[in-house]
Amino acid sequence: MGGKGRDVLIAGGGVAALEAALALRALAEDRVQVELLAPEPQYWYRPLAVAEPYALGEVLHFELSSLTREMGASFSLGQLVSVDTAWQIAYTSPGGVVPYATLLLACGARPINAVRGALTFRGPADTPTIEALLAEIAAGFARRVAFVVPTGAVWGLPAYELALMTAAWLDRHAIDAEVSLVTPETAPLQLFGREASAAVSAVLERSGVVFHGAAYATEARPGELLLVGDGIVVADRVVALPRLEGRRIGGISQTFEGFIPVDQHGRIAGVEDVYAAGDITAFPVKQGGIAAQQAEAAAESIATDAGAGLVPRPFRPVLRGLLLTGSEPRFLHTELGGSGTSWVTPEPLWWPPSKIVGRYLSPFLAEITQTPVPAEPPSHTGVVVETAVEASTASRRDRLIGLAAKAAPHDSTVTPVGDLMSTELLTVAPEDTLGEVAERMLETDTRSALVTEYGKLIGIITARDMLHAVGGQVHPSQARARQWMTAEPISATVSMPRDTAAILMAEHHIGQLPVVDGEQLVGILRARDLVPTDTSHDETTAPIGLGL
Ligand SMILES: Cc1cc2nc3c(=O)[nH]c(=O)nc-3n(C[C@H](O)[C@H](O)[C@H](O)COP(=O)(O)OP(=O)(O)OC[C@H]3O[C@@H](n4cnc5c(N)ncnc54)[C@H](O)[C@@H]3O)c2cc1C
Repeated sequence: MGGKGRDVLIAGGGVAALEAALALRALAEDRVQVELLAPEPQYWYRPLAVAEPYALGEVLHFELSSLTREMGASFSLGQLVSVDTAWQIAYTSPGGVVPYATLLLACGARPINAVRGALTFRGPADTPTIEALLAEIAAGFARRVAFVVPTGAVWGLPAYELALMTAAWLDRHAIDAEVSLVTPETAPLQLFGREASAAVSAVLERSGVVFHGAAYATEARPGELLLVGDGIVVADRVVALPRLEGRRIGGISQTFEGFIPVDQHGRIAGVEDVYAAGDITAFPVKQGGIAAQQAEAAAESIATDAGAGLVPRPFRPVLRGLLLTGSEPRFLHTELGGSGTSWVTPEPLWWPPSKIVGRYLSPFLAEITQTPVPAEPPSHTGVVVETAVEASTASRRDRLIGLAAKAAPHDSTVTPVGDLMSTELLTVAPEDTLGEVAERMLETDTRSALVTEYGKLIGIITARDMLHAVGGQVHPSQARARQWMTAEPISATVSMPRDTAAILMAEHHIGQLPVVDGEQLVGILRARDLVPTDTSHDETTAPIGLGL
């Protein structure tokens, strides 16, 4: 390493590593120099491994050297073996010594067989295992198959997908066989909350998948699956997900299972400038979207230390899952440790509608793979993380931000956001109805309402959100702001330099930024506020599109 910026070494080439690298490029720019280190040259997009055996999808993989080049980082093939945290040196295999200013551990977890005698489904490498199982069923050698979520650290959703897709496959081929799902959860996909769980339960029932909850599988024997206690599930074949263990890194303190405890910014206690994110951390939910959120929190903190002028936001886990069913998929969403509200719909609840949701990674991969993303999210969109905006709105907004960027060098001093923002705000409470919010937006001729709780900003409702609600045919006197707002909106601080705010707007495709002082909402900065009055004249008189 070594270059113009602060050297950030990211150990890993998976979800957390890539999300962190993209976030750092966006937030810290050339204040940091990012290098990824991983023992495999490819990033495997694993979620579609469940669909491959049924010919319903294909596992994608990407060369890490090309991805990192594209995102302005570098890549080295190698494995992190140990760290000397006092001297800030990473030892890699084979035989490398890499000094770092900041280290992010994103080495993931390794899969361990969890149920003796069962087939283990770890991901892309096990497509042939499932294909062979389907062939056995088709040949009549197996009539009852059980899919198992084991105890311990595991992301259980793929077991549901395998069970549902097997049931759909049996149906398509008119084969009479029995599929069951065995899990320690007391209700299907319990983590997603009551509403989502009930909906998944109905999907399982309709598909003929028998659900065995509160069941702890121990061993597969010929014709049966043994459970803790006296229970058994009759099964000719058993497919279990693996249990996960954190990868061991010398010099780093890890739990018995190899996981690394971190704080809400991903920092490892007691060591300077070392962070961890993703499956390797001690956070109990091992999921790609969660890994990306942790990576983002760590990247914000690292970018702040590098002088990016941010207030780093802590990790606040939001669980988003896209359940493949073999026919209509289901989008599931809940805030972990939050109100307990959960959503489930067959239409996307986020955008782009990817299986692994990363604020930076999803749109990046969608662009690379040229995945066609419709211009408009569908009407049910309640939580939009990345939204494609109309071309007219985007071009106008981009012109404003471009003008702001051009004007920046003429600033003799750095103008802080606090000097430019407007303090005339429309604030609403999370429990206000959409009808009340719409009325106040009309009264005040405002295109967005900021949702606050005890003065703290928790969301934003734009005219676009209102249109989505109308499109979703919700009743304005029943739907609440909390359900339709964009939660955790990107915000600026009063002391943030003007050009940083312009970059934030451009990077996130937004035309306004709420401004906070500590946790309190104090103002709003619009794209037009960034432009000196003489240059903004023509632009600001044009009609604004949908509040963006
Ligand atoms: C079949 C399957 C389906 C899934 N479906 C979904 C889904 O639909 N949605 C979802 O959100 N999540 C899903 N997940 C979970 C998701 O894939 C993981 O939670 C996510 O990949 C974790 O990200 P990570 O960056 O922590 O680890 P990983 O993505 O596993 O990346 C770890 C990286 O570290 C590298 N590495 C390993 N050891 C070292 C070392 N010593 N030094 C340096 N690098 C090292 C690895 O080569 C790899 O590049 C699924 C998982 C599986 C297996």
